[in-house]
Amino acid sequence: MESNRDLWILNFSCLIKESSLLSLERTSLNMIYLDYAAHTPVSDEVLQTFFDVSRDYIANPNSPYKLGREAAAKMEESTNHIAALLGVKESEIIYTSGATESNNLAIKGIASAYKRYGKHIITTYLEHSSVTGAITALQNQGYDVDFVPILEDGLVDLNQLKELIREDTILVSICYVDSEIGLKQPIEEISELLKDYPHCYFHVDATQAVGKVPISLNLIDLMTFTPHKFFGMNGSGILIKKENILLEPIIHGGISTTKFRSGTPVLPMAVAAEKALSTMLENLEYNYSYVTILNKQLREGLEKYSNVCINSTSNSIPYILNISFKGINSGAFQEALEKHDIYVSTKSACCAPNTASRPVYAITRDRKLAMSTLRISLSHQTTKEEIDTFLFVFDECLKELG
Ligand code: PLP
Repeated sequence: MESNRDLWILNFSCLIKESSLLSLERTSLNMIYLDYAAHTPVSDEVLQTFFDVSRDYIANPNSPYKLGREAAAKMEESTNHIAALLGVKESEIIYTSGATESNNLAIKGIASAYKRYGKHIITTYLEHSSVTGAITALQNQGYDVDFVPILEDGLVDLNQLKELIREDTILVSICYVDSEIGLKQPIEEISELLKDYPHCYFHVDATQAVGKVPISLNLIDLMTFTPHKFFGMNGSGILIKKENILLEPIIHGGISTTKFRSGTPVLPMAVAAEKALSTMLENLEYNYSYVTILNKQLREGLEKYSNVCINSTSNSIPYILNISFKGINSGAFQEALEKHDIYVSTKSACCAPNTASRPVYAITRDRKLAMSTLRISLSHQTTKEEIDTFLFVFDECLKELG
């Protein structure tokens, strides 16, 4: 008779098979997914890794006996590899449940640990809601917040940033790449500016950058990302925190892989993250060049419309193209595309509906444009034919709604 464990394995294997069938069915239905900045489908290799490790390592990595020690050794192996891939130390990796938790831990943890040096925080209007939300929560507790202006080309105004930094500034939080327009910030230049302030820490939300562009962590104090943006598992996140930087945990309850985030170490998630990260980094340059070609095709196809304004600038990564409509409701446009089985987003998936896009407003200063945005996001799995079809359907929808 089959044990419960065998049944579980059997069910899971069927699920994996069914999900591959599902993607085949979807392909045959010509569904076009262009919302990779919101979420990417987990790759078969990552899912298989997650499954294998879940099956093969049954003990808690913190348990002292042999099975626990084996799980701990596997955890260490993966953590070491992730650290090597990113050029940091193993002890600098903190596993979390996602980028939202990583951002909250970084921002609230620094604010609490260093409040004796000051309560001033600097950020931008380009940030994801998990950054602005955490900072607003601190503002409500008496922290002082400044927003550094964004120039027309989408980059942080470095002169203004210089002006804003004070002796009591303890945190500067700026995204590597923002989630709506895809603007890549001059992270090294920003960190150079902060070097003269020993109690000012630099947090970078790199959720839209890791796996897409080369990352240098040399001058960054804390960095956030999640594998579900690069074909890894959802429900898993990483925060890099450089050694010697204090951080007040927000989840208490004993030492896990580090003392900064309690809970049983989630070994299958860590190994799956390693798999997703190493695969993406191996193919980073190739994918970037390929997606650049798709982006050009898309941009050229959209540039001809006088009632479409392209918000992404030359500083945007090719994976994201943000546009605004003049006189068309972008929500209605999104729905019209959905009728053709084409999926894009209006803003970041975590934004409140029917509100203006803060990043688009920050660079255009035009409320109407900020209220009517559409984000098309690509991946190495996107095909030229999908872009052709998208442009064809886009034209139809524009005629219908314009
Ligand atoms: N930061 C950025 C820039 C994002 O794009 C996202 C997700 O859209 C997040 C943070 C939050 O990620 P998660 O869904 O893993 O919490």
